[in-house]
Amino acid sequence: MMTVEALGIHGLVAQIQAYNPKSDAARIQRAYELAVTAHGEQMRSTGHPYITHCLTVAFILGDLHMDDDTIAAGLLHDVPEDTSISLDTIRAQFGDDVARLVDGVTKLSKLRFGMEQTEAESLRKMFMAMAEEIRVVLIKLADRLHNMRTLYALAPEKQRRIARETMEIFAPLANRLGIYNVRRELEDLALKYLDPPKYTEIETLLAEDKDDSQAFITQAITILREELAKENVVLHEISGRPKHIYSIYTKMRRKARDFSQIYDLRAIRVIVDSVRDCYVVLGIVHSLWTPIPNEFDDYIAKPKENLYQSLHTAVIGPAGKPLEVQIRTLEMHQLAEFGIAAHWLYKESDSKHDAAFEHKINWLRQMMDWRKDIVDAGVFVDSIKTDEFQDQVYVFTPKGAIIELATGATPIDFAYHIHTEIGHRCRGAKVNGRIVPLDYHLRTGDRVEILTAKKGNPSRDWLNPGLGLVHTARAKQKIRQWFKGQARAEAIADGRELLDKELHRLGFDQRNLDELAKFFNYKSADDLLEAIGHADLSISTLSVKLLEAERAKTEPPVETPPPTPVLPKAPETAVTIEGIGDVLQRLARCCNPLPGDDVVGFITRGRGVTIHRRDCRNLLDMDDEKERLIAIDWKKGAEKAYPVLVRVEAFDRSGLVHDISGIVATEKVNMMSASAVVSRKDRIAIITATLEIASADQLTRILNKIDRLPNVIEARRVTNSGDGN
Ligand code: MN
Repeated sequence: MMTVEALGIHGLVAQIQAYNPKSDAARIQRAYELAVTAHGEQMRSTGHPYITHCLTVAFILGDLHMDDDTIAAGLLHDVPEDTSISLDTIRAQFGDDVARLVDGVTKLSKLRFGMEQTEAESLRKMFMAMAEEIRVVLIKLADRLHNMRTLYALAPEKQRRIARETMEIFAPLANRLGIYNVRRELEDLALKYLDPPKYTEIETLLAEDKDDSQAFITQAITILREELAKENVVLHEISGRPKHIYSIYTKMRRKARDFSQIYDLRAIRVIVDSVRDCYVVLGIVHSLWTPIPNEFDDYIAKPKENLYQSLHTAVIGPAGKPLEVQIRTLEMHQLAEFGIAAHWLYKESDSKHDAAFEHKINWLRQMMDWRKDIVDAGVFVDSIKTDEFQDQVYVFTPKGAIIELATGATPIDFAYHIHTEIGHRCRGAKVNGRIVPLDYHLRTGDRVEILTAKKGNPSRDWLNPGLGLVHTARAKQKIRQWFKGQARAEAIADGRELLDKELHRLGFDQRNLDELAKFFNYKSADDLLEAIGHADLSISTLSVKLLEAERAKTEPPVETPPPTPVLPKAPETAVTIEGIGDVLQRLARCCNPLPGDDVVGFITRGRGVTIHRRDCRNLLDMDDEKERLIAIDWKKGAEKAYPVLVRVEAFDRSGLVHDISGIVATEKVNMMSASAVVSRKDRIAIITATLEIASADQLTRILNKIDRLPNVIEARRVTNSGDGN
């Protein structure tokens, strides 16, 4: 490649003529000559004549297809600042526009970014420059790009400061303006000075991979080109894509991936005529090679914020190596290369493009329109406050950090953006030092301070769309999550109360919740309690299982079938399974089968057999899994009654024992023995009775009925372990 010195002004003029035949070559030549005169013998720290810097900046602007005024201003950008030739001379020779651009760059260069200033202040000044004239920012970017290319000539400390500033301010700015190539080069150069070992490592790996990589890409292009020809796709270009070291760097960090696992190391770009063809190409690529999951992005349907459009996919390419493919139209490609600069490219040539572009860059245009009102920074800040952005608002934290939010965002959105906990605790907000209502719509330039309560406690009103208190999806999701978590806490509390009551009543006061959870196949005690609280696990099902498990323990089994070695021994339920021995069984929670019910077994995956009532709805849904159903029957004697000791505590009244006997008789239960003791002091009667109970359900039913009798304080089952009182 020829150097800038060798190409010289003639090279520059030729480059401009290539994209802008109307360019005034003589005027560009004169600007160059004025710069040469002005800078004279000045040298750069690299040892090159100063004019090489001016020329390179102009070349970079030429790469961006900028107009003559911008190129001339690029050539002259350091003249008023560093030489004895004044802005007035430039204005006299090249007119107001060029003078204004040069003056803008000079003013912008005097601003100090980074270090001493807050990010907000820096960005605000950038915005101000944009408002003045977007081309000023483009010249400044070109200037910064060349300074980064020659950063090696500066002292290490200066290198790091300038590199950091580039990474923090200029690369994001190039990205926002959609100028991909400038952004990429700025980032790579900045990384080189910010993390030299890592940069060198990636650079070396890329170099080692180069030959392989080139052969691979050539092969992939050949295959793809043939297929595209068959489908009559009009191809503008198909080429290997240049590697962006910084993007490899961030991917390795963000996805914690090894160099070899980065898919876009080997990448090709396909440029076609129409959007339709983009998808045709995508289809062909995906039919030639297997797509890698989660690596497809459709930026055509959903353009990036800076208007970038393209299809990105990653596939397993030839020889089983990953390959990234970018597919876009020529127009999209130019936008990707030139970004905001494409505006000037289309401005003269094509009004259709211009109209579409104008519409798309509405937010930028609005920034530019501010220039009418701007006198100083203070006025600027005021002017942005009255402006409505189309997509984003930029607001400041009390410390001056910039926060970008969707238009319509409220203080609550801001609070959730800062931190979920701040969101939950948000009770009010100050904007620019004044308390505002929570439905206040934040505006660019607002300084927002959130007033918080000690405890996180969002209001249900926040989710009411009619009140307009929350705008962003992120905040809504966080609030919903909180209520979901809260609902769980409530369900757990309800579940605990229900369970305590039932356990107490059944005489199981001392129960280890973790064991109980395990017994019912829940991961934790909280899960069990939540299921009870949400009525996913009915309390009667729970008692049935507990009582039967206990009964199985106390009743020695008549025949013990040999345990199946693979499956863990189940707490025995009162069923036998034809042809199968002792496998893990559980009663279905959906239909809660009881001894005597017509039941059927369902072979679950890994959890043994679930016992359902034959008329259970869930079984009807299992039509296509009929082969997993298995015939089962209750064990003989399952319906046989067994003695249960019941204790009733009540304020004594006449007829109480009679009423209890009545309930027991209605249930056709035999009362084997009963006794009553009445305390003289407080007239509390304790009645104990042994009932011949056939099923747990029956016991629960009887206890419930007794509970509802007048004067009864409590009716519960007494077990040997738990009848301390
Ligand atoms: Mn410069």
